[in-house]
Amino acid sequence: MDLYSGYINKLIEELAGLPGIGSKSAQRLAFHIINMSKARVEHLSRVILEAKENVRYCEECYTLTDRDVCPVCANTNRDHGTIMVVENTRDLAAYEKTGKYQGVYHVLHGAISPMIGIGPGDIKLKELMKRLEGNVDEVIIATNSSLEGETTAMYISKLIKPTGIKVTRIASGVPVGGDLEYIDEVTLLRALEGRVEL
Ligand code: ZN
Repeated sequence: MDLYSGYINKLIEELAGLPGIGSKSAQRLAFHIINMSKARVEHLSRVILEAKENVRYCEECYTLTDRDVCPVCANTNRDHGTIMVVENTRDLAAYEKTGKYQGVYHVLHGAISPMIGIGPGDIKLKELMKRLEGNVDEVIIATNSSLEGETTAMYISKLIKPTGIKVTRIASGVPVGGDLEYIDEVTLLRALEGRVEL
């Protein structure tokens, strides 16, 4: 039985397809949107479209940015010889919030996960290896401590080893299965300071 109008159902369906939104939340959001003024809905749609149209990958580190080169990579005071490898832009933001990391980043946009068919070619690994042809002293692997994150860390370290560049892994302290973005800054810094050479 169709409880709502077809239009509302369509909206609920789209919202429920977003990560972290269950069907109850999708319904709540859909009704909230319907109750918003037309101007606000237009504004929301425009903001989503503008973000989509203007956000791109940084040419150097592949984080999401609205410039060709992100502010971190563009900053000449940062140590461009130290590259921290993270799974996504949210993890980069978590480390940036600590305000203590002086190097630059490389954003993989995912982690190797044979279970769901994500291989090395599906994340920004080629791009990382290309960067290592320049002047790089250390690569800090800060992927999550999930199975996928550890698999990715291992894979990257094996790939980099032959180049002679120092490869380190952030220390435990980041709980197993822990998503970097949810971990507090003190824990993040401790993990960074206690990193071990692979
Ligand atoms: Zn960048």
